[in-house]
Amino acid sequence: MTDLTLADAGVDAPPADADDGVWLTCIECGWTGAPFEEVRYRCPDCDGLLEVRYADHPTFADFEGRGVWRYADALPFATGVSIEEGDTPLYSVPTIESEVGVEDLRIKHEGMNPTGSFKDRGMTVGVRVAERLGVGRLACASTGNTSAALACYGARADTPVLVLLPAGKVAAGKVAQASLHGARILEVDGNFDACLDIVADLAKRGEAYLLNSLNPFRLEGQKTIGLEIVEQFRDQTGDLPDRIVLPVGNAGNTAALFKAFRELVAAGALDVEQVPKLTGVQAEGAAPMVEAVAEGREEVRRWEDVETRATAIRIGNPVNAPKALPGIRETGGTAVAVSDEAITDAQRALAEDGVGVEPASAASVAGLRKLRESGEIDADEQVVCLTTGHLLKDPDAAATAGAKPEAVPADTEGVLDHLAEN
Ligand SMILES: *Cc1c(COP(=O)(O)O)cnc(C)c1O
Ligand SMILES: [Zn+2]
Repeated sequence: MTDLTLADAGVDAPPADADDGVWLTCIECGWTGAPFEEVRYRCPDCDGLLEVRYADHPTFADFEGRGVWRYADALPFATGVSIEEGDTPLYSVPTIESEVGVEDLRIKHEGMNPTGSFKDRGMTVGVRVAERLGVGRLACASTGNTSAALACYGARADTPVLVLLPAGKVAAGKVAQASLHGARILEVDGNFDACLDIVADLAKRGEAYLLNSLNPFRLEGQKTIGLEIVEQFRDQTGDLPDRIVLPVGNAGNTAALFKAFRELVAAGALDVEQVPKLTGVQAEGAAPMVEAVAEGREEVRRWEDVETRATAIRIGNPVNAPKALPGIRETGGTAVAVSDEAITDAQRALAEDGVGVEPASAASVAGLRKLRESGEIDADEQVVCLTTGHLLKDPDAAATAGAKPEAVPADTEGVLDHLAEN
């Protein structure tokens, strides 16, 4: 049993079959193996989740360049299949900051990535690994953004992409992206979790290389969100955030941020007490992680029926929970569920501060509001909310949340009359 703790990034001794100081370890039983000899998603001994491990951990002085690959020293390769992902803005949002009442609030807007979500960070690394493994087809199950990102990076790498989507439950912008970038799109008569079960089965049978966040290499790319937050927050405020609040679906980001901080602690770049509290937010209709945290359980109970307008986090069986729950616990964070109405309110509030996001992203701000109201987050905290996807991903949700267009006649007098009357 290898407990995931902030004080231990698991670097004691590289196994003999490590490749250039990189290997895979099972987080449950401690199995270790070569990273690129064979395609592996889970432990061959116990089926546990795998994690990428490194012989060395870089500090901030080692990073140079821009975007995800600025952090190459913390990744399995020096370069990847890249379209300049990462390097997303960290915005101040003065209106929400004063309304919520925290000392400092910034928004890390991952919707500003090339395909409009943080998934690009995982794909630039994951598709590079796929090249190294020499696989012929890439695949994912998706609530939308993973398929958009994989379609784009697969196209860039000239490798065919297969995506499985829950029929009728994916926002329009995301399907359009997967389609135009040339993925083969299968619409499954079932929810996301059913899609993931099928595509994981296909991957096991060797039909395709799986690029869901079960893939440990994807999380390596997503780790760079945490590294960027630390660097940008320090540049902007001279300090570190006390807390990072993020939407949770499969809990890949929660796991990836925790790993980033474990490795920074191992490198001596941060003290354990400096690590921000990881705070996960789910929609009330899809909140198995929140339930597990509330009940102090180490495992999540799968929710069979999930529903929320935040379709990107409409997930009942978060695959990365065994990596993410220790992250929430170890950093002193928490998890909270928010209503769809609260999500839409937060989406409007962000828009009023000039930040356009899709519903799932706004869950982070809705969660911050709720935890401030309950007093679980203090007024003196410095907080970063992660917004995971761009407004244009889900144009229908944005239009519903926003002001309605008004019909007017095609002449100036008519327009003036309308403005005077309404
Ligand atoms: C994928 C996604 C999430 C969920 O992230 P996890 O890492 O699976 O928890 C949240 N928001 C958006 C917009 C996403 O695309
Ligand atoms: Zn194992």
